[in-house]
Amino acid sequence: MESTGNNNRSLNFIEAIIEEDLMNKKNDGRVHLRFPPEPNGYLHIGHAKSICLNFGLAEQYNGLCNLRFDDTNPEKEDTEYVESIKEDIQWLGFQWHDKPYYASDYFDQLYEWAVKLIKEGKAYVDDQSQEEISRQRGVPTRPGEESPFRNRPVEENLDLFERMKAGEFPDGSRVLRAKIDMSSPNMHMRDPIMYRILHAEHHRTGNKWCIYPMYDFAHGQSDYIEGITHSLCTLEFEIHRPLYDWFLDQIAEGDYRPRQIEFARLNLSYTVMSKRKLLELVETGVVSGWDDPRMPTISGLRRRGYTPESIRNFADRIGIAKRDNVIDVGLLEFSVREHLNLIAPRVFGVLNPVKLIITNYPEGKMEEMEVINNPEDPESGSRKVPFTGELFIERDDFMEDPPRKFFRLGPGREVRLKGAYIIKCEDYKKDENGAITEIYCTYDPDTKSGGSGAQRKVKGTLHWVSAQHAIDAEVRLYDRLFMDEDPAGHKDKDFKEFLNPDSLKVLTNCKLEPSLKDSKPGDKFQFQRLGYFAVDKESTEQKLVFNRTVPLRDSWAKKR
Ligand code: ATP
Ligand code: MG
Repeated sequence: MESTGNNNRSLNFIEAIIEEDLMNKKNDGRVHLRFPPEPNGYLHIGHAKSICLNFGLAEQYNGLCNLRFDDTNPEKEDTEYVESIKEDIQWLGFQWHDKPYYASDYFDQLYEWAVKLIKEGKAYVDDQSQEEISRQRGVPTRPGEESPFRNRPVEENLDLFERMKAGEFPDGSRVLRAKIDMSSPNMHMRDPIMYRILHAEHHRTGNKWCIYPMYDFAHGQSDYIEGITHSLCTLEFEIHRPLYDWFLDQIAEGDYRPRQIEFARLNLSYTVMSKRKLLELVETGVVSGWDDPRMPTISGLRRRGYTPESIRNFADRIGIAKRDNVIDVGLLEFSVREHLNLIAPRVFGVLNPVKLIITNYPEGKMEEMEVINNPEDPESGSRKVPFTGELFIERDDFMEDPPRKFFRLGPGREVRLKGAYIIKCEDYKKDENGAITEIYCTYDPDTKSGGSGAQRKVKGTLHWVSAQHAIDAEVRLYDRLFMDEDPAGHKDKDFKEFLNPDSLKVLTNCKLEPSLKDSKPGDKFQFQRLGYFAVDKESTEQKLVFNRTVPLRDSWAKKR
């Protein structure tokens, strides 16, 4: 049995179930899972957890995992979503078994099974309105009321159902219901709806159908058709499980049954995670699209600079639970910081530049300073960064009147320029508004990094770029999209009321070291002292654009 590195922890409850089933040779020892997204939006980090769980278990137990589009709601579904879902799963590093499957491929089979249930007296056509049906269903503590159409003769049901399919009736005028138990304490067993009439074009079956199966009449059967052994879903479906099993018992031949197992969905603080709300953010223009780097979508995280490894590690770290809980979004940020620390080359980039002139540096001179690319990765080697007498440093690395604990630059103070020399601030110039325009320093030629005078210590080290060699870039800084820990959790307030007005800050005058000139969308770097940054998809040779993935440290922790 192969393992994905879970050897040093105890089994989670799903693994325990699977191992017991394997021991009992249930389903001939097969392990077959599926990830069943509805193609009505882009995938988010919660789906990523489900993907890692399903595909991860398949890998761990040498089993299979299907991708199945649960496309029974034609009105909200779209092939754009189908494509994005496939891309996201593969980007995370998983591959589905065989080809993508679609619940819509089973519409004919589902229809036949519905007819079988009618013939066996286990399903009937109800002519009542949705409202009337809901009313009769009642409340869990009291039995519901039987529909006046419940005991329709089989022949009449068959005829009506066929005419429903043929398009003879308008939307909402009739439904097909399972005849189970109107007094069951489980409301889902009170003659649940199997089919509804909907004259809508489907993204795959076009206009072939004007009746569509409900989730409950499609999901378990799809699992069954595909030979799924363990059907994992989130907790809200626990109460549907008796119905899932009931439908399977009506249609199954032999002993094989897929088994539904529920786990707690991922909730993240400071985030909304329902596709409906994410769609609302897209449609109202609050964000630039599904892949806006502030979105908790997989495509947004990817654009922001997250790596598949960091998301998989996050999913592993949070594990699975049987009770609903909220994970601190800081843990997701920790995971990407941890991975980028290992793989991201260190570079110099100045976000808010101010000119620094070294008055005793020979005019026209240029030195190439050898700088290590990544101390965490010995293989990554080093590069040469041009150094001259005119540099840019970070504006807030200088203070006219610094407090004692400020170890950066101020009048008369010394700092090391990283990978270069110790400099001392001699003077500075301001414009008519009082903003610093130039800082004048002298350097000590005996203090070159790596040279014999490199031992001399000063408290502060600054990053810098040579003014003459610097390349211009736009840098986008992101903060959390919401200011509230649970933006969707307020009864009388819309979640959009908690949007953070400062979630995006665009800096258009950034100066980067010249080695970044040929960087391509998706490339990732650590800008020294500032954080991790990724080249945006809008970046071009003419105009480089970077996204800050995360700052170096959790600056938000202070604000909470
Ligand atoms: P949303 O609530 O965002 O609309 P959904 O449950 O309707 O999501 P589906 O496309 O039906 O979205 O979900 C596909 C799979 O992903 C399902 O098995 C579902 O249980 C799982 N899933 C969805 N959201 C989460 C989450 N937050 N945590 C874990 N799994 C999730
Ligand atoms: Mg769903």
